[in-house]
Parts: sequence; C-alpha cells; structure tokens
Amino acid sequence: MDNRLIKLYELLLSYYGEQEWWPANSPYEVMVGAILTQNTAWGNVEMAIARFEGNLNPEFIRDLEMEALKEIIRPSGFFNQKAVYLKSLTSWYSQYNYDASILRREPMEKIRNELLGVKGIGPETADSILLYAFNFPSFVVDTYTMRLCERYSVCAGKNYNAVKQYFEQIFEPDAALYNNFHALIVTHAKTHCRKTPVCAGCPLEETCVRVGVERVSLT
Ligand code: SF4
Repeated sequence: MDNRLIKLYELLLSYYGEQEWWPANSPYEVMVGAILTQNTAWGNVEMAIARFEGNLNPEFIRDLEMEALKEIIRPSGFFNQKAVYLKSLTSWYSQYNYDASILRREPMEKIRNELLGVKGIGPETADSILLYAFNFPSFVVDTYTMRLCERYSVCAGKNYNAVKQYFEQIFEPDAALYNNFHALIVTHAKTHCRKTPVCAGCPLEETCVRVGVERVSLT
C-alpha cells in the first residue's frame, strides 16, 4: 500500500473538498466536452457548447452538415478535426441507441477498446468518457497527474498506462473516488501546482519534496 499516494489524496480532499465533476447536463455532453477540450482551455469548450443553444444531443450532431458543425464548435479550436471526431464518436454511440443505460451494461474493457478505435480518441479522452460520462471506474491520467506525481515523488511510472495502473492498484475500483481524485489534481494544478508552482500556502507544502521545482521555477 502506497501511503504517500493515499496521503496526497487525503490532503487534497481535505483542502479542496468534493469536486462534483463533470459539469454537464448529460453523458453525451460529457463525451462532446471530452473531445472539445483537447488542446484548449475549458472556457473555450463552454463557449462552443453554448453555441448549440440547447440542441446538444446525438441526433442533432448526427444530422448536422459537417460545415455547420465546424462553425458551431469553432471557439474550441482545431474545429476541422474535432468535427470529424464528434461525427465518429456519435456514429459509434449509435450502436447503443444513444442510451447510456444500455452501454453501462457492457464490460468496461470492451467499451474502452471500442472508444480507442474511434478517430481522435486516445487513452486520456477514452478514460474521461468512461469515468465521467458512464461512471466506469477508469482512472484518468493527464499532464497534471504526471507533473504532480513527479514533484510529490510518487513513483507511479513514466507513461500513461503505467501511471493509470498504479493508481488503480493503490485504490480499489471506485468511480466516485477516481472521479474526485482526478478533479482534485486538476484543481490543484490550476491553483498551486502550476507550471511554475506556487508552493507558498500549498496544502501539500509540508510533505512535498518538490522534485525539479527549483529548475522549473528558474525557467
Ligand atoms: S509544494 Fe509546490 S511543488 Fe509541491 S505540490 Fe505544492 S505547489 Fe506543487
């Protein structure tokens, strides 16, 4: 049992509290958000989603002309390729009748493999959809996770799958916990453990060994 990782979670939870992610009105909206947030800030995703004007559902995107879809999601950046990804994802979802309750009856690994076969979906996006849209216990790893693990000296591994497996070995499969832990890491990365970290007042300040921080701070 890695008490260091557990300690990290407990400290973040006690400082920031429950995060209640993902901000969306439906599983499909989470799926769309997971595509749109690739390589852009969340504020741009919100602008793009607002442009659907209440019509963000799979049937609407299925029937929409490609050029019209590109125009709607333009604020999210990379809109040409993201429109193709959304069409592909929506087509994949159709085999479950756009019904999250049907999809949730399938084995998680089957759904993960299918998602990884959809154009534009890599491990981080697939796991975000599994966890935040469908409530499967699949831990999401991102650059914030990697950075915090390095600075806090959690020896979780050097690549996506290694880090994911490490977290999932330390913590039993628990979608609510995985949901909250990843959200806490993102919140922490945006408030204290930024690219140039703000260590003063950080809730991990007393226990963090700050690997590489001096080098980061000087660049
Ligand atoms: S003490 Fe500094 S390096 Fe460590 S987690 Fe906090 S902000 Fe990041």
